[in-house]
Amino acid sequence: MSRTTHLHSGIIILDASLEKYASTITFHDGAVIAINGKPPKGALLVDLQGQTLVPGFVDSHIHLLLGSSGAGDVNLSGCENKNDFERELLQGYKGEDDSQWLVASGWSEQTLDATPTIEWLDCIQDIPVLCWRSDFHTAVLNTAALNQLNLAALEKVTGGAQCKQGIVRETALWEHVAPFIPSPSAAQIRTRLKKAVQNLHADGVTLVGAMEELDDVENYLFPLREELQVRMRLMLLDHPTPENFSRCSSSEKDSLLHVIGFKTFLDGTLGSRTAKMYEPFCDVDSSGLFVEHALQGDLGEWISRVVQGGYAPVMHAIGDEAVGTALKSIANVPKTQLCRIEHAQFIAEQDSSAIEGRWFGVQPLHKESDDLIALDAVGEERANQLHDWRAMLDRGAKLSFGSDWPIAPHNPIGAMSAAIKNGVTPKEALVATTADAAASLGEPRSGILKIGSFADATLLSCNPLECDWNSVTPSITMTIVGGVIQFQSGTNR
Ligand SMILES: [Zn+2]
Repeated sequence: MSRTTHLHSGIIILDASLEKYASTITFHDGAVIAINGKPPKGALLVDLQGQTLVPGFVDSHIHLLLGSSGAGDVNLSGCENKNDFERELLQGYKGEDDSQWLVASGWSEQTLDATPTIEWLDCIQDIPVLCWRSDFHTAVLNTAALNQLNLAALEKVTGGAQCKQGIVRETALWEHVAPFIPSPSAAQIRTRLKKAVQNLHADGVTLVGAMEELDDVENYLFPLREELQVRMRLMLLDHPTPENFSRCSSSEKDSLLHVIGFKTFLDGTLGSRTAKMYEPFCDVDSSGLFVEHALQGDLGEWISRVVQGGYAPVMHAIGDEAVGTALKSIANVPKTQLCRIEHAQFIAEQDSSAIEGRWFGVQPLHKESDDLIALDAVGEERANQLHDWRAMLDRGAKLSFGSDWPIAPHNPIGAMSAAIKNGVTPKEALVATTADAAASLGEPRSGILKIGSFADATLLSCNPLECDWNSVTPSITMTIVGGVIQFQSGTNR
């Protein structure tokens, strides 16, 4: 569709890192064709009404399929005790047929003040029930679910030690329990995906870095990409095999969706005490766990295979030892090659000199909930190192902001605000949400508005580089992808 749109009468930030402004911008056929030009004949005119247009927001770490299909239909995030928890489960239970599992998610020890046990879930006896912790690294199961599993084998797998009590973590959970959960229907998944992307547009997001499985990409994301109208750069959870590389190549040149990397997990999470730390946690007798290639000792080979295939290695690492291991494993990979370390919540002093020029996918909205547990979990000294983005920037690390949705809300303005409250400047926060987030996903046509770049932009009620974030936060008034308005506040699109 050929369409020309001319936006005028507002403040236009072309490039946050250079603080480069314009007064008008013209989009044609999905790309920027003019800056500070006159309106072309026949163009759709958009009056920005004095508001601030910025390059479209990027959420560089998201789980689209997990958020749309795997999280289940029962939301436990509002539960404060066992009664609330049982009530939500029993409400969700109505209407389930007995071949289905009841899947719930969103609980955490902070909101419950306790860890749920198998007894909490046994209020439902006749179908299997699985309740994901909010971080998806721990789940609690009921007796009917345990009856479907081989507990003797599960007990020996990393994260399976407490399976007989209904608690399963990490490898045991993802590889030996999750495959038993029946998936929702294809129609349900498509409906939920569309809703999820509408919500992303309402939060100003035009490009996502998504952690997905190749089957889901082929079955849902690729066929739906034109309809969804959010750009997707995918980091696959699959193995980097020649066969998978060739499956990826079909979308290589697609401007809406293509695969940029492969992801591995080095450890778990702080909340589940499975993040791998150099020193033990303070409240459990463990220093966390290595998983996948870090556990098997072949992380270096995995990185080589991914890089040789032409993709970016993406490593989930939360504990300081996991981050240190990730940094050592890429020490010989040139900084020009995209490698991403995701979360990097703790960085030990001994590893801090290795972070310069490396990409870190960080999620500022994790900080609030992590701060609540950090002191008990790791003690004062290490709690002070948690999510220290100021120190990371000062040491030359490159930050790319994301949400980790559905584990935290996808809200770039909220993430910027959390970062700014913790010593990051508004300019650094906007760069980490636009230009740098796009660069970390290998996408030079996003994150900056210049001739030839994608016509992706987010309109804000006030200028994020000049407003006082202590008293006002900008709100999203319009989101444009490929030159087409996908969200406008006050209208039901
Ligand atoms: Zn994640």
